[in-house]
Amino acid sequence: MSSDAPIIIIGTGLSGYSLAREIRKQDKTTQLLMVTADDGFSYSKPMLSTGFTKGKDADELAQATSGGMVEQLNIELRTHTVVTGIDAERHELLIGEERLAYSRLVLAWGADVIRLSIPGDGHPHVYSINDLMDYRAFRQALSGRKRVAIMGAGLIGCEFANDLLNGDYEVDVIAPSDTAMPGLLPPEAANAVVDALSEAGARFHLEAVVDRIDRQGDGVRLTLSSGELVDADIVISAVGLRPRIELARSAGLETGRGIVVNRALETSLPDIYALGDCAEVDGHVLLYVLPLMACARALAKTLMGERTEVRYGTMPVMVKTPCCPTAVCPPPANASGEWEVEREGNNVRALFKSPDGETLGFAVTGDYALEKQLLAKEVPPIHP
Ligand SMILES: Cc1cc2nc3c(=O)[nH]c(=O)nc-3n(C[C@H](O)[C@H](O)[C@H](O)COP(=O)(O)OP(=O)(O)OC[C@H]3O[C@@H](n4cnc5c(N)ncnc54)[C@H](O)[C@@H]3O)c2cc1C
Repeated sequence: MSSDAPIIIIGTGLSGYSLAREIRKQDKTTQLLMVTADDGFSYSKPMLSTGFTKGKDADELAQATSGGMVEQLNIELRTHTVVTGIDAERHELLIGEERLAYSRLVLAWGADVIRLSIPGDGHPHVYSINDLMDYRAFRQALSGRKRVAIMGAGLIGCEFANDLLNGDYEVDVIAPSDTAMPGLLPPEAANAVVDALSEAGARFHLEAVVDRIDRQGDGVRLTLSSGELVDADIVISAVGLRPRIELARSAGLETGRGIVVNRALETSLPDIYALGDCAEVDGHVLLYVLPLMACARALAKTLMGERTEVRYGTMPVMVKTPCCPTAVCPPPANASGEWEVEREGNNVRALFKSPDGETLGFAVTGDYALEKQLLAKEVPPIHP
């Protein structure tokens, strides 16, 4: 390893930039090189599903340009540069034929959207939104249009549904599950969100998948497995994300659902670390902001010489559906216990109780969402 080589961070999403910021709090001069496939603009990804509600377009959601980040963080930055491989033995990064030496390498390269292969010729009208550049393209395509069909009723599908309703768009949501956000919310809380979105004007087509997407006039016609036909101008595909693991795997790093790291964010190979949406940290794949911020703080200390393990506290997730404010802190996978649920209209308080009465998780909607902070204090942290 060349000790005068820089620390290289791949990715300028919230993980990459949060890490660089945390490093700079401790050290102003260590050489940092950031490499990113995108334009390197700094933005808060959770804001992408609030553009209409907050009255902001893609440019207004950007917090700083790549040039601004170079100045703010005293970094070297290569934008529109796709890393194609890692030579872990030689401590080098591959960008096509080019090789870049690193002293330490951090993978903060996020997750890929899952793309369904659906028959039909309407795919140019289908958009996935997982970064600011995607969002910019989507907003441009939306200009002058009115009808949006959303494939997927997960957190992101529901947030976009609410945001588009707030922008006066017509919204159809199609999903195979019998309610929204299965796996994240208990059914009563999920039904409250579906009911509130429906009252606000969304049309849900549940227990159905899209069999075909065909051009129809200036827009598309979706043929659903239920036999229904849905006409739309634009389609958002929000059917899930998958941590980017392929390059890591081919470089010999251990991978599972994500790039496997321990609590010090160390991968299975020396001097390579990972955090954020691409990482499986101590068995947890959590595609949210709070976990990556905790990882960035710990990893910055490690990279600056004080090996530090991340500690995940209790990390509630806010679902940005203002027509039915929702917060959830899912119980640990395989926890034994059951949901105790109170529901009055779209106000739901669901507590996941262990057999000895301990609250291990919660989901609250509507008026009960105000209780999220109090409830979060009752739930044990992920890492005790
Ligand atoms: C619409 C939406 C709303 C959300 N809302 C919330 C919320 O309310 N609360 C919450 O906690 N979380 C939310 N999330 C999730 C949260 O935003 C993500 O967990 C987080 O932003 C992930 O950041 P990241 O830096 O790990 O990945 P990304 O932001 O995906 O960054 C990955 C970076 O790696 C770069 N890259 C990828 N491959 C390569 C390569 N081969 N070479 C070079 N560069 C590469 C990319 O260009 C990019 O710069 C939301 C997500 C979405 C999509």
